[in-house]
Amino acid sequence: MPMARTKRGRIRQVHRWLEAEFPAPHSVRVSICKVKKDYGDCDLIKSGVLHVRVNCDLDWYASIEWLLHEYAHAVAWGKEKDPHDRAWSDRYGRIYRRWHNKGGAEESRKL
Ligand SMILES: [Zn+2]
Repeated sequence: MPMARTKRGRIRQVHRWLEAEFPAPHSVRVSICKVKKDYGDCDLIKSGVLHVRVNCDLDWYASIEWLLHEYAHAVAWGKEKDPHDRAWSDRYGRIYRRWHNKGGAEESRKL
């Protein structure tokens, strides 16, 4: 299957890849939408459901990068004491290397 043709489609592929490679402690919903004064965020919206939002004003490349960043918050959920602390950066580092240096970007195109 080729790479998705729309930004939303591509984000869905990356989300599927992230869920398969880096399971989070709760289920994760991903939305591309307006996010005021930020590139994105991650919040628990109800018991057992995390919501990752990525700002729709970002271009494709930045949207994917930001999804990786926010998804690391989802994976570190409950372990992170301060935003971007060691719990988050360990997970973000693993996701980032897997995505950029170990074939993640190519693999996700098949999902
Ligand atoms: Zn963050």
